Amino acid sequence: MCTVATLPSLIGKTPDQLREVVVSLGAKPFVAKQLAECLYKKRETDFSRMTSLPVALREKLVRSYSTLTSTVVTAEDSGEGTIKLALRLFDGPIIECVLMRESGEDGTSRVTACISTQAGCAMGCVFCASGMLGLKRNLTAGEILEQMFQLYYLSRMSPEHDAENWLHNVVVMGMGEPLHNFDALMGALETLNAEWGFRFAARRITVSTVGLPDKIRELAAQGFQFNLAISLHATTDEKRTQLIPTNVATGLKNIIDAAADYFKQTKREVTFEYTLVGGENDQPDDAIRMIELLHDFPRANVNLIPMNPVPGSGLKPPGTERVEEFTRLLREGNINVHVRKKRGRSVQAACGQLRLRLEADTVA
Ligand code: SAH
Repeated sequence: MCTVATLPSLIGKTPDQLREVVVSLGAKPFVAKQLAECLYKKRETDFSRMTSLPVALREKLVRSYSTLTSTVVTAEDSGEGTIKLALRLFDGPIIECVLMRESGEDGTSRVTACISTQAGCAMGCVFCASGMLGLKRNLTAGEILEQMFQLYYLSRMSPEHDAENWLHNVVVMGMGEPLHNFDALMGALETLNAEWGFRFAARRITVSTVGLPDKIRELAAQGFQFNLAISLHATTDEKRTQLIPTNVATGLKNIIDAAADYFKQTKREVTFEYTLVGGENDQPDDAIRMIELLHDFPRANVNLIPMNPVPGSGLKPPGTERVEEFTRLLREGNINVHVRKKRGRSVQAACGQLRLRLEADTVA
């Protein structure tokens, strides 16, 4: 795959950085505010259409800077309100992002964007397609944010698009380990949240992590009210280390302690994700141990995710009756449980599967 030369992108730049850009191109500093409005509020990526900017500046921006650096490779529609985009980054790697539209009983729809933070992943979870080819590279803050632009354009094509209220939640649950690319993650989320940026409430943003205790505490210290989701996936260190190799260094207890500290500091409820893998972690004993593990945890929520099959993983989804029994046991133990629907399986919704297939096609 050849690298496409691109001019530096403005997406992801803060107001201070945009000020430097406009001043270096001979415009007055205050023009940076208009540029941020065009970019983040109107989501205009064509400089020539940023008509609130001086003409001379627009022309110079066209010559020296870019906006979107990724291109859409495919958009796969599950027909159930889930559309997954595969994006090719300027230097070749493919990442994924998803727009999910769910209709509520009252007829309103709720839209969730799922975004990636890395091309590939270094964590190596055995049931996850994203890590199968290892980590290719970190995304920049701009590349993380670009997915929001691409999903916005996708949303605009839908007859159900609501310009004022097009998005309700953002989940950082795509490819990669967000806390393993901390600075870029924070850069992107700050722009998403900021008054000068997308103005998207922190309480509507969820960061999902494999469980890196130091980074969880660092996230808490940033002063945002992001929701935190912890990928638990096992109830003993032995099993968790088999499923999630990084557990050797972190250990279950440390992670749960860090998650409790996160709750204390931010007052945001923590969700524990638990991918049920057939015969691995889906037994009644596992459910009982989970109740004990989370017994003292303030307002814990558990999201059960029946594993999406990943070819080559050698692992299988749990039987329906296992999922039902697991759910029942947790409820009896007073745990707040949700079972995630298998939405979008037809678009290869589990992490990284679409990209694996596309990269295989590229190689073939
Ligand atoms: N690195 C982050 C984000 C990863 S993806 C994390 O570990 O949380 C979001 C969730 O999907 C994680 O809980 C992850 O373990 C889970 N997941 C990955 N592959 C899956 C699969 N094949 N089936 C079901 N869940 C999967």
